[in-house]
Amino acid sequence: MSFSLLEKEDTIQVGQFSIFPQEGLEHAISTRFGGVSKSPFDKMNLAMHNGDDEKSVLENRHRFCNAFFLSSANLCTCEQVHSSNIRQVTAADAGRGATSYEDAIKETDAFITNVKNVPLMLFFADCTPVLFFDPEHHAIGISHAGWKGTVHKIAQKTVKAMQAVFQTDPKKCLVGIGPSIGPCCYEVGLDVQLQFCKAFPKDANTILIPFQKKWKLDLWAANRIQLEEVGILAEHIDMADTCTACNSDVFFSYRADQGKTGRIAAMLCLK
Ligand SMILES: [Zn+2]
Repeated sequence: MSFSLLEKEDTIQVGQFSIFPQEGLEHAISTRFGGVSKSPFDKMNLAMHNGDDEKSVLENRHRFCNAFFLSSANLCTCEQVHSSNIRQVTAADAGRGATSYEDAIKETDAFITNVKNVPLMLFFADCTPVLFFDPEHHAIGISHAGWKGTVHKIAQKTVKAMQAVFQTDPKKCLVGIGPSIGPCCYEVGLDVQLQFCKAFPKDANTILIPFQKKWKLDLWAANRIQLEEVGILAEHIDMADTCTACNSDVFFSYRADQGKTGRIAAMLCLK
């Protein structure tokens, strides 16, 4: 299993997980490369809520989707609020938030669907993207796991939602844990540390590394552990192990760019 960057269509560079098949499914993590946005959103900012020029974002979305032979008009996006709310996307949701942020699905941080040709797209700048594919029932899921989503186990809840709606068997479900701020760069204080100790009593020592009277938080481990807790097999979890703050020349990083930056996207679409 591996996560690697590759060129699509001229200058568009994306990250992909080797665990996901190339047939019947498209998936990608975008990078900064291939878009038209100007600094500090340069160049492939795919989000509309962060102050970038709307026309540039629409062009970026078009180029990005086009590279996968998908229509950006069908994109389904949401207003991400660090909740653990999960929404089942239906055919009627195609295009929600595709051309305006006001139209995005409200207060949601994860999608599940079995509808084809509706690209699910979530936005990130340091939070962790988690992507799910159930090859048996041809269903997908995607979640936005910052520290709040991670401590409230949104990735685990996404698996449970897929189980309830699509009869997904966790033992057959394939998962990719994308680039996000790594334990190398993510310092947290007492309040966050206490919440993780409570949510992960057995694994707190793996997830939190003491550092100068504070802690370094490992979001990748916290997401992997919660997935294994609900029956996802370790050999079905592809970890990017890529820190967005260490690699802010490739990915947007809220922390490394001091808050004013673009958003990469995680995109998943059944075909
Ligand atoms: Zn780092």
